[in-house]
Amino acid sequence: APRTVEALTERKATYFLRAKKVIPGGVNSPVRAFKSVGGDPLFIKKGNGSKIWDEDGNEFIDFVCSWGALLYGHSHPRVQSALKSVIEHIGTSFGAPTLREVEFAELIQILVPAAEMVRLVSSGTEATMTAIRIARGYTGKDKIIKFEGCYHGHGDSFLIKAGSGATTMGTPDSLGIPKGFLQETLCAEFNNIKSVETLLNANKNQIAAIIIEPVAGNMGVVPAHTDFLKELRKLCTLNNIVLIFDEVMTGFRLSKGGSSELYSITPDLITFGKIIGGGLPVAAYCGKKEIMSYVSPEGGVYQAGTLSGNPLAVAAGIEILTMIKEDPPYNQLNNQAIFFTNELKYTLKKIGMPYQINQVGSMLSLFFTDVPVTNYANAKTSDTKKFAVYFNKMLEQGIYLPPSQFEAMFLSTQISDADISQTIEAFTHALN
Ligand code: PMP
Repeated sequence: APRTVEALTERKATYFLRAKKVIPGGVNSPVRAFKSVGGDPLFIKKGNGSKIWDEDGNEFIDFVCSWGALLYGHSHPRVQSALKSVIEHIGTSFGAPTLREVEFAELIQILVPAAEMVRLVSSGTEATMTAIRIARGYTGKDKIIKFEGCYHGHGDSFLIKAGSGATTMGTPDSLGIPKGFLQETLCAEFNNIKSVETLLNANKNQIAAIIIEPVAGNMGVVPAHTDFLKELRKLCTLNNIVLIFDEVMTGFRLSKGGSSELYSITPDLITFGKIIGGGLPVAAYCGKKEIMSYVSPEGGVYQAGTLSGNPLAVAAGIEILTMIKEDPPYNQLNNQAIFFTNELKYTLKKIGMPYQINQVGSMLSLFFTDVPVTNYANAKTSDTKKFAVYFNKMLEQGIYLPPSQFEAMFLSTQISDADISQTIEAFTHALN
């Protein structure tokens, strides 16, 4: 039955009020609050396959997939049974080495040859924070270069022209970052190698690392051009700079071997998160042995974690990577995403609405602008008011999209052809 925003809103408002009394902004991560699209957030009760249900029993097709973490959809039976087995027979945390962690690291190494050594952590933020610490320790230099609109978690060094929630909330810089930190982070323009060269010339022998999302997903989806990445690789090698691919979002989403495989470019360090944990808190940083050997206790760069490599998270991760290794889902996902994108384009053309769709594998974004989106400035030309109307009309029809223009939409392997048809039909209504 068709829903109305009113029907959806009534009880959510009560939940959100209750949440706001005890949790800042009512949420445990900012974009969840629906601030830029208006209305109150859904409170999710459960998920299964391609669907989620809110506390009032409304069903939604889920294109958020826990912000890309769920490649195989919700409550996948193989992940569930792996988790049950750990709970029943093993335990939840030891803070001591286990063979399963070694197995997990070996699995990552098999899939991603550039990952010569692997260290497990519990969030993408930890992985990227550590990656730059290692780069600084290894090169003996302090400054880093990031790109406008790329998000690398909430480490102090990264909250400068950061995408994702920082852009959505309209506060690109966070309070509470010491001035000294600001001076160490330089910001270049995505897909513009000249902007990198300018920074390198002005900061000779001071840059420890360049960090980039090879396919940015945090200003909406914006792929880096292959030539741009190749030039970055060259500049890093030439200037003794550690090249870090932040693949927290793209890792195991776009291909089995990560962006290094997709672009045939080998970074020095890679960060993974989201998918490798199958919905549990796992992330990793990995890369060249020579650089990774700087990590404590082998080397002098300190990083630690009470719950790092805990059995539940590792079991889920092993299960997911094994599924990927046995039967990589990328062709199927890519074909479905292309079909979906073409249908959206057809509808938009018929209506005569200016738009851009950026799609890379199972990540896509619809921007309400007539400017091709290749960087942050282009992304910001999007009509976010139009996005908010579209978002809410889709939600009314049971389609759960990321609640911000500056986030990616994700397909999971559980999305059926019927889900796609239903979404396209909702899309046609939402825009008319
Ligand atoms: N890097 C990228 C590219 C991300 O997309 C994210 C999260 N969206 C992070 C880092 C931070 O990961 P986490 O939220 O697990 O700390």
